[in-house]
Amino acid sequence: PQPVVAVVGRPNVGKSTLVNRILGRREAVVQDTPGVTRDRIAYDATWRGRRFTLVDTGGWEPNASGLQGSVAAQAELAMSAADVVLLVVDATVGATATEEAVAKVLRRSKRPVLLAANKVDDERLLAETASLWSLGLGEPRPVSALHGRSSGDLLDAMVDAL
Ligand code: GDP
Ligand code: MG
Repeated sequence: PQPVVAVVGRPNVGKSTLVNRILGRREAVVQDTPGVTRDRIAYDATWRGRRFTLVDTGGWEPNASGLQGSVAAQAELAMSAADVVLLVVDATVGATATEEAVAKVLRRSKRPVLLAANKVDDERLLAETASLWSLGLGEPRPVSALHGRSSGDLLDAMVDAL
């Protein structure tokens, strides 16, 4: 079976847009309304001859068990099914308590984690990208899923981690 990359993050950070960018086609549903959750959907993807399965996730809403419990559970679920976890953060917002909670779970795992700072549409947001080093997940990689900026660099790092 081919390796699985799980794309995780809060609603509206641009996960589905990034999935479409990676696929080179529009298959993942992009929502302009934050908080629309969907089931996890898997797609076949290829980069530089490496095939992998890309899983677009939803369901990061706070639930009855509380915000921390919910995001931790989602992170655990994504990790359990994935060879590599791609955590997407909205660089225009920065790291929230949600991402800090998720990062804590991801740091404890042995799974490789890639940290994408999305919505870096121009270099003015590079400083925001650098602030994501605080999550302790290694190098934050700036990308604009919408415009494609630096998505090739992110994909290179992803297939290196497979
Ligand atoms: P998801 O909920 O994490 O899957 O986020 P979506 O992919 O549905 O995107 C949420 C919103 O963010 C949409 O309006 C996208 O067009 C927008 N968006 C996604 N990526 C970017 C980006 O790189 N730059 C900007 N400016 N907007 C983006
Ligand atoms: Mg989505």
